[in-house]
Amino acid sequence: MDKIALITGASRGIGAATALLAARQGWAVAVNYQGNQAAADAVVQQIRAAGGTALAVQADVADEAQVLAMFATIDAQLGRITALVNNAGVVDTTQRVDEMSVARLRRMFDINVIGSFICAREAVRRMSAKHGGAGGSIVNVSSAAARLGAAHQYVDYAAAKGAIDTFTVGLAREVAAEGIRVNAVRPGLIETDIHASGGLPDRVRDLAHQVPMLRGGTAEEVAEAIVWLMSDASPYTTMSLLEVSGGR
Ligand code: NAD
Repeated sequence: MDKIALITGASRGIGAATALLAARQGWAVAVNYQGNQAAADAVVQQIRAAGGTALAVQADVADEAQVLAMFATIDAQLGRITALVNNAGVVDTTQRVDEMSVARLRRMFDINVIGSFICAREAVRRMSAKHGGAGGSIVNVSSAAARLGAAHQYVDYAAAKGAIDTFTVGLAREVAAEGIRVNAVRPGLIETDIHASGGLPDRVRDLAHQVPMLRGGTAEEVAEAIVWLMSDASPYTTMSLLEVSGGR
């Protein structure tokens, strides 16, 4: 099977680490970004400099028209994808539930849930044996918060990731016989810019003592799990929710 992957939100953090590792393992990688083209181009350049194949592709994953245009570009320039990593996500820790606006709730679910759903739909249309595809692997980036609940001013984020877990299990069942595996990775406390963007820049330092391994994880450590699930090294693994959280 060709190794062609789309990784959403891949201009930084876990997505960028996944793009770099996947490219080192022979994947041609479409590096999705929403707004920061320079950062996505830097990831692409790093991959190309090491002899790999990569392409920066813009789309807000919550915008169906932009996602369709992105897939058309990938089809034309790399071919049909055989792996999708639904990694794009946002967190916001600035409001308790009694302060939370419906606009914020909708955006949280639009990006974390609807965006993953739209990308997965387009992936199934390309991977499924029913559509003439060669099969493939979909990896959804959930969160340990889906299980822990996240009662720290981001209950909406935890609920969205809970939806991702249930979506993973249902989709895995639906397409298993068509050659598509679907799994989720649940990162714990990982050192990326998402915490500063979400309003708590010191979150990893403040909470590391709660992790049995007594430290936050790195984006590269999460990427190892994601790339394993993308690859032929996990041929009989589907419908799993893999915790990468230092035991948290
Ligand atoms: P990050 O903020 O560095 O990366 C998220 C990426 O998603 C960014 O590049 C951002 O631009 C992109 N993005 C956001 N909205 C988008 C949209 N509408 N369309 C396209 N791209 C969009 O954070 P990260 O920690 O690397 O997060 C990656 C994933 O891991 C997210 O789904 C996040 O919820 C999940 N996660 C992170 C942690 C952690 O502690 N860092 C823990 C659990 C789960």
